Amino acid sequence: MADKYAVIGNPIGHTKSPLIHQTFARQSGQDIEYTAIEGRLGNFREDVEAFRQADGRGMNVTAPFKLDAFAYATDLTEQARLAGAVNALKFDGDRILGQNFDGIGLTRDIVHNLGAPLRGKRVLLLGAGGAARGAMLPFLEQKPARLLLVNRTIGKAQALFEQFKPYAQGEFAYASYPELADVAEGFDLVINATSASLHGELPPVHTRVFTHASLVYELAYGKGLTPFLSLARSAGGGRLADGVGMLVEQAAEAFAWWRGVRPETADLIKTLTVPLV
Ligand code: NDP
Repeated sequence: MADKYAVIGNPIGHTKSPLIHQTFARQSGQDIEYTAIEGRLGNFREDVEAFRQADGRGMNVTAPFKLDAFAYATDLTEQARLAGAVNALKFDGDRILGQNFDGIGLTRDIVHNLGAPLRGKRVLLLGAGGAARGAMLPFLEQKPARLLLVNRTIGKAQALFEQFKPYAQGEFAYASYPELADVAEGFDLVINATSASLHGELPPVHTRVFTHASLVYELAYGKGLTPFLSLARSAGGGRLADGVGMLVEQAAEAFAWWRGVRPETADLIKTLTVPLV
């Protein structure tokens, strides 16, 4: 009988996780069944327990349940503990292992797929929500020369800065959006980890941050040229990318964690890519 996995979220109709994991399974000869579960708000624990009782082996967790999964796990990795959120669960008898692969997938997409090392580079990270928090440790482990955090609610950027200061080796700071008008030079990487694009909005970022050599990365995916990417393009900001590679890479990490086999991702990323026009 095939081993059972699932993604849980609400809403879940839009999810690409079953397609991604079924493709990985086919490609690596793994016998798994992967479904999508619409979790009931306020009933995360019950819904996951029902899946475990039906011999579920592991789950991907998406919005709005990443904090519930964090609370539900009995064993957290350091990455999940520092991110304060869990996006993948593995069931091992009574133990419920919780990990967060979002930031790891993002970093792998940037460094490995897009060939843009963070080491020694100037990095600007916009946003201080769950995705930004998950990216902090993987980013700092790459040893950027400079990492600047910017968020609309400045207190959240400050909190993130305080939490991750011990892990920084290069220059590490936080700032408000208006302060970006005064930056002395642009950034090698400008990463939009805000959710502004989901609402067709633009974070109030100054165009000084972009250079013709920047990699400009939008975490949202499948939306084509978002207002943020459009601003970057018109400001002459180098290469543009969206979060489809992050999505596939975090899935590949979870698949490897569950099955012990790391699937190929390049073809799937190509298939799922929506042109940035
Ligand atoms: P959260 O809700 O946790 O955080 C949202 C962040 O966006 C906050 O920092 C918020 O600022 C900021 N924000 C929202 N609207 C604006 C605006 N108009 N101007 C400036 N800042 C704004 O979201 P997540 O961290 O979970 O998700 C962030 C993005 O990452 C989303 O687009 C999501 O789709 C994407 N994502 C992509 C993944 C992938 O695999 N590609 C995986 C996970 C997320 P404030 O604190 O001031 O409210």
